[in-house]
Amino acid sequence: MKNNELLIEKAYLNGEFVDSYKTFDVINPATGETIGKVPDLPMDKVEQAIADAEAVWPAWRKTLVGERSKLLYKLYELTLANREKLAEIMTLESGKPLQESLGEVDYSASFLIWFAEEAKRSYGDTIPSLQNNNRLMTIKQSVGVVAAITPWNFPLAMLTRKVAPALAAGCPIVLKPAEETPLTAIAFAKLSQEAGIPAGVFQVLTSTDAKGVGKLFATSERVRKITFTGSTAVGRSLMEQAASTIKRASMELGGNAPFLVFDDADIEKAVQGAVTAKFRNAGQVCVSVNRFYIQDSVYDQFAEALAKAVEQLKVGNGMDERVKVGPLINKKGLEKVQAHVDDAVKRGAEVRVGGKALEGTFFQPTVLTSMPNDSLIAKEETFGPVCALFRFSSEEEGIRLANDTPFGLAAYFYSENVRRCQRVSEQLESGMVGVNTGMISDASAPFGGVNQSGVGREGSHHGLDEFLEIKYIAYGE
Ligand code: ADP
Repeated sequence: MKNNELLIEKAYLNGEFVDSYKTFDVINPATGETIGKVPDLPMDKVEQAIADAEAVWPAWRKTLVGERSKLLYKLYELTLANREKLAEIMTLESGKPLQESLGEVDYSASFLIWFAEEAKRSYGDTIPSLQNNNRLMTIKQSVGVVAAITPWNFPLAMLTRKVAPALAAGCPIVLKPAEETPLTAIAFAKLSQEAGIPAGVFQVLTSTDAKGVGKLFATSERVRKITFTGSTAVGRSLMEQAASTIKRASMELGGNAPFLVFDDADIEKAVQGAVTAKFRNAGQVCVSVNRFYIQDSVYDQFAEALAKAVEQLKVGNGMDERVKVGPLINKKGLEKVQAHVDDAVKRGAEVRVGGKALEGTFFQPTVLTSMPNDSLIAKEETFGPVCALFRFSSEEEGIRLANDTPFGLAAYFYSENVRRCQRVSEQLESGMVGVNTGMISDASAPFGGVNQSGVGREGSHHGLDEFLEIKYIAYGE
């Protein structure tokens, strides 16, 4: 860690790294050690940052789109050139295995290059008039100052997914990273400075007063758009507050993803997909599977194969290359996972593998069978390394159980029958469906949820529209 010059214990305000404030500790969840201290900014600095962002908007939105594209491309190159350094910081502050952090850097960079290209394609329309000889057209323009709040589970990807399209669209953006993982965001700010992103266009505000900063972001008249990834409870509160200024809002919130295995599935592939979709980041992913629904006739076969695969997963400090499952982010996360497992067992579930907390905030990779439908896991996101196997008999019942939730982010299912694949994917109430795959994230695809999992889409060409307003212009004869 000594030679990692991207580990900077400062906030990034209006083009400068600043540190003359009281600080808070950033903790390595694998060891409990403090790995850095960053400024706990007072609220007037947050206000100042928003004002500075507003001040640079007129110049930034006027830059040629080709110029913004080049800056994003430069930032993409710098991100990849610093892959190991960024990944190291990410593993130290989030606990995720180093291989996953390296993968996250690549995934994060893919948003930078994607939006470097999409920036150039924010096309408007020309429209035939119905009424007279007016000539009608639309153009797309930046919405204005964007405020972003990001979570700890993907310290870099959740950031580039917002920052890249905002910059591409011509919006300045102020970001408050999660207090658990601010160092990755600060490292990225350093790269943005090196890339030549002008002062005030991208700022990183570190604070422990999430509620206060959130309120300021949501209610400030200077901020035209708020973009948030995190829990549904916080998203709901931010939307309520944002209503006071009729602010545009994108919300990527919690999920409760179902994973159905039908009797005509390739069980071996389904097990592989299940492990991918469940154990990435120790299950602390909003698209992690929370509920496995397995059809009666293949239930035992699937449960046995999954239990075998899960027993192989090595738990430990993410800096150890053999480790597949790191710690949970903190004690609160661990307690929730334990409570969900205990509740399931109390209601009659059987522990096939794991089921217990280990030292620190580590939890054993776990497989539970005979899950009752009234358990907590059926209703709430567990956010931990627990596979809970429910049973269903008919396709209709499987779909009904999968949809029995107010959330609708991701859903997965396995079947080799193409007609069933079409039928089921159309009936699942979620923003994203993985058919015979446990891996759905892709910068070129629209990521987002329905119902209480959120509003808006990130990534893809839709992700750029979230930061653009449509202006209609009529030219008379
Ligand atoms: P999690 O439970 O995954 O930490 P949160 O929704 O609490 O999810 O956190 C996601 C982000 O929201 C973090 O940056 C956190 O600091 C921030 N946050 C937490 N509470 C609030 C709040 N009341 N208002 C605004 N932001 C908040």
